[in-house]
Amino acid sequence: MLATAALSSAAAAQSNPRSIVISSANGVRACARAMELLKAGADTLDAVIAGVNILEEDPEDTSVGFGGLPNEEGVVELDASVMHGPSRRAGSVASIRGVKTPSKIAKLVMEQTDHIMLVGEGAGRFAESMGYRREILLTEKARLAWLVWKQSLRDASGHNNWVGSLDAPATAAKPSAQLKRLFPQAGDDLLAWAWQVAVHPPTGTINCLALNAHGEMSGVTTTSGLAWKIPGRVGDSPIIGAGLYVDQDVGGAGSTGRGEENIRIAGAHTIVENMRHGMTPKEACLDALKRVARNFSDDRAKLLQFDLSFYALRRDGEYASASLWNGHNFAVNDGGESRLETAAALLER
Ligand code: ASP
Repeated sequence: MLATAALSSAAAAQSNPRSIVISSANGVRACARAMELLKAGADTLDAVIAGVNILEEDPEDTSVGFGGLPNEEGVVELDASVMHGPSRRAGSVASIRGVKTPSKIAKLVMEQTDHIMLVGEGAGRFAESMGYRREILLTEKARLAWLVWKQSLRDASGHNNWVGSLDAPATAAKPSAQLKRLFPQAGDDLLAWAWQVAVHPPTGTINCLALNAHGEMSGVTTTSGLAWKIPGRVGDSPIIGAGLYVDQDVGGAGSTGRGEENIRIAGAHTIVENMRHGMTPKEACLDALKRVARNFSDDRAKLLQFDLSFYALRRDGEYASASLWNGHNFAVNDGGESRLETAAALLER
């Protein structure tokens, strides 16, 4: 009976298609750009990639692409995946260095190779072979935050190699004042932000899903991953089936938040399968989040230590987002201005 419901909604989509783009809350501009391109007749994957390129190229966005917070060695490593519904193809890159727009490289992996995923140095060399020049992606803002993080670390005796102390004169400036010498332009707000992200390593990503008037769908997820990660750490964003999944017959899903927990439940694929079997996008996302909570035996104290958000767009245009914890929005564009809508939540803080 559920399968019948899913089939009839797919049939409805064929008779009553509409263009729609959804994304994580940071994607208001991305959704607008993607919709503009859909209206101009662009392919759904080209549209969502052009949308997320805005954030990937923005040095002020510290969670995606250029300007992303680096790994523990101060090197920006990016992850991205793409799925193209009509051709049922996928591509992804993980831990790629030196290229601002990993979503474009993921698409090139999809189109130009017989592989689906390239990682690390191999992904970087592939980008070079496709005509990309590698650049330093660490902005001054991200370097400042990374140095503050270094200063915040302590060994068991409370020592830190990144703060001059033992041989420093009694009159030496405090670490924060030393930083001001290194970054004379940094105001108090920027330093306060750097301290905040040093102590609470942030995540941050964009997932963007699109449906066009022909009922075609695609999706992309792109990120700089977890700040201060161990070099080589790969999150959920480039994992097909975790950070992104699109099935042209059913719909698409993606995620942001703590990737490790999403990988353990193959979230995006789980959500698409839930929709295939008749759940609404909201039910499908909440069910996936229940699996995450189940992995911690619903231990609230442990679950409070992270967050995870899912986004789902069904082929009939129905969409939703749900997060582990309340208080999240997501971006939607169905042809006019992009807007933020409130995401459902599994748990209340
Ligand atoms: N999911 C990303 C990761 O784990 C980060 C994020 O979305 O904030 O790499």
